[in-house]
Amino acid sequence: MCRHAAWLGAPRTLASLIHEPEYGLLQQSYAPRLQRYGTINADGFGMGWYDATRAEPVRYRRTVPIWTDANLPALAQVIRSGCLLAAVRSATVGMPIEETATAPFTDGRWLLSHNGRVEREAVRELADDAESSCDSAWLAAAVFVRRRAGHPLGDALAEVVAHAGAKDPGARLNLLACDGASIAATVWGDTLHLHLGDGVLVASEPLDDRSGWQAVPDRNLVLASPDGVRVQPL
Ligand code: GLN
Repeated sequence: MCRHAAWLGAPRTLASLIHEPEYGLLQQSYAPRLQRYGTINADGFGMGWYDATRAEPVRYRRTVPIWTDANLPALAQVIRSGCLLAAVRSATVGMPIEETATAPFTDGRWLLSHNGRVEREAVRELADDAESSCDSAWLAAAVFVRRRAGHPLGDALAEVVAHAGAKDPGARLNLLACDGASIAATVWGDTLHLHLGDGVLVASEPLDDRSGWQAVPDRNLVLASPDGVRVQPL
């Protein structure tokens, strides 16, 4: 995924990540402002959210450009949650364009998106199988192996990024994950921004021109929970 965003805080709609902000993910799909690799994100999109009636998150993924889904604006206007994640994709050359290659990936309560690229050989040894041959799907599978072993969200992301980054020095490994009660995100080769208010917004690039957006420096891990937000070196 080339641009991703998540929210943790008072319940709000998916449209608050996608359609409502001046530079939300809809706008970022065709005119991102800070994207370093690729120019548009037209190879699909996905979103995930939590609802009290289900143990696991709900997910919606498509392979079409986000602006072509005429049903999405109304859906996004009524889907409301205290923990949301959405992403728009620019497929890396050679990667398949299919729903299973499209974030968010999910396992149990976890949702995960990847902005970047990695040699699949650098992560294949961390998981037995992946949903798709896409590099991001292999990264997600590696993180989910750690989830099943009981590792906390942030530790799972940090371990996979450390391993993949060591094996593939050219890798870009911005991961964004949540579990309904917390968000973890890595900054490794691409941009990531934070905005704190009555909750926390974590996004590849600012969703609007309000003051208060902070860029997270490269090679850091962001951990957000109802107790606050921490940024620590990877
Ligand atoms: N490598 C991933 C893919 O192909 C993510 C791409 C990106 O961040 N632009 O989907």
